[in-house]
Amino acid sequence: MTFALTGIGVSRGIVAGSAYVQRASHLEVTEYSIIAERVEDEVARFEQALTTARQQLQTIRSRIPASTPADIAAFIDTHLLMLDDGALSRAPVDIIRRRRCNAEWALKVQCDELVSVFDEMDDAYLSTRKDDVNHVVNRVLAILLRQPGRSTDHDDVELGGCIVIADDLTPADTILMKHQGIAAFVTEHGGVNSHSAILARSLGIPAIVAAHHVRRYIRQGELVIVDAEHGVILADADSRVLEHVRERQRAEQRARARLGRLRTQPTVTRDGHEIRLMANVETPDDVLAMKQYSADGIGLYRTELLYMNRADLPTEEEQYRTYLEVLQALDGAPLTIRTVDLGADKQVDGGRIGGAVATNPALGLRAIRLCLRDPKLFFPQLYAILRVSAHGPVRMMLPMLTSIHELSQVLQMIAEARLTLVRRGEAFDAAMPVGGMIEVPAAALAADLFADQLDFLSLGTNDLIQYTLAVDRLEEEVSYLYEPLHPAVLRLIQMTIAAGERKGIPVSMCGEMAGETDYIPLLLGLGLREFSMHPSLILEARRVIRDADVGRLSAVAGKIVASRSHDEIVRLTEQLTGLR
Ligand code: PEP
Ligand code: MG
Repeated sequence: MTFALTGIGVSRGIVAGSAYVQRASHLEVTEYSIIAERVEDEVARFEQALTTARQQLQTIRSRIPASTPADIAAFIDTHLLMLDDGALSRAPVDIIRRRRCNAEWALKVQCDELVSVFDEMDDAYLSTRKDDVNHVVNRVLAILLRQPGRSTDHDDVELGGCIVIADDLTPADTILMKHQGIAAFVTEHGGVNSHSAILARSLGIPAIVAAHHVRRYIRQGELVIVDAEHGVILADADSRVLEHVRERQRAEQRARARLGRLRTQPTVTRDGHEIRLMANVETPDDVLAMKQYSADGIGLYRTELLYMNRADLPTEEEQYRTYLEVLQALDGAPLTIRTVDLGADKQVDGGRIGGAVATNPALGLRAIRLCLRDPKLFFPQLYAILRVSAHGPVRMMLPMLTSIHELSQVLQMIAEARLTLVRRGEAFDAAMPVGGMIEVPAAALAADLFADQLDFLSLGTNDLIQYTLAVDRLEEEVSYLYEPLHPAVLRLIQMTIAAGERKGIPVSMCGEMAGETDYIPLLLGLGLREFSMHPSLILEARRVIRDADVGRLSAVAGKIVASRSHDEIVRLTEQLTGLR
């Protein structure tokens, strides 16, 4: 009889396939002695395993598709760097020689040692480093133990068309499995914003996470159905259920074809409001993806990647060339370059920016605060952005603005940068718009003051929600509190849009909320006319907008913001989606 299990669906699609169940996620390692004459052979065996692990990761790195968020590639780069770190490459060799023990045991002893150090540091960022150590060590152990089918060694298992059911998956696993043609994956752990979930969306793999104990109930090789949209896993399906799945798949195919036709259609609501649909990009490769969907330009170019995985800072010239390459690919569409937002969840030096490890990095020296503190970091970027503005429509956007005093300082620095370029005889657009992200509640509450001095505002809801609700955007334990529809968040959004309207400057939104089809009608009703999102979401957003009637949405949106209960807000928002 058909039975159902549930988890959190993190991407789209419904598929049927045979289950590939990874039973054990824990590798059994035992200690044995090595005779003195064979110790160097054991060291060589360990070093060979490191080389193989490195080759595996490099292969995976080269298979990452262009449209994948840059932090996924950075994640794999981190694992590659860890393999070369003395703590994992040299220390186990010392242990093999000193204790005359097998390589697996030496690596395990060293791993336990490193993990216990991380455990003593009560710090969320470092605890993710602990997971990295475990992932890297498991990869090397799987090679040493020659265990096929482990979470780090799928190359010798035929996974084409399978539904992988695992404890958890690393981004590297996910990329490798996509390459092997898996139909879907289900994990017992993970959350909506875990790396493998982000990858599943970006690679178009139907996926469900947090399906607790699923491996207990699914048999190896049995036929299962994964409905990623609703987070449901069906086993023992009968022919009627299978026919229903096939019908859903046909409907999805038809919907994809309909969306494809929207590539060349204008983004105008039914009652004639023109909406700007912009893209969030990180790499020049993302630009190709956004052009495919004919976005109106780039609403957020995250520049952090240029600063990551290197010991030095990018030079002005390097930045100028990179930005110019992006601008030239846009064929005259506008490019919004965000000045660097390092710190907090975008660390470059293990969280030590500005000195000791910060206890609360999200509230610490990040983004514009860091740039103001360190002119050597900031000026080369200011010069590069200004210089590239001579070649086309460039806008500069400042992240994490909190106080007007801060903004005055930045504007002063931009003025100084302009003077220096004049002295150097370099060309730039003297009228290049400078805008600010509204992502701190203080900035939203004082949006009118910022609007007085800026050319545009952009709502960064990822941070705005985190700071308004005091919910760490990366912390799974409190993710249930991360609520874009909280009245406080909606009021701040409304205030910001209203401030922009009063001062006559454009307001856009570039946080994830802008790309959620469930929220787009509400945002239109609140007066938002420019949205910026991951390129893959643009067509769906265009469909929703072309179906919308702003006049009718505005009336309900007003009621939603004034609403006194959360249930009422959710009900009215759903009604709004139906109103489109
Ligand atoms: C945001 O905070 O909404 C945003 C777009 O910036 P980031 O996600 O890069 O912090
Ligand atoms: Mg932000």
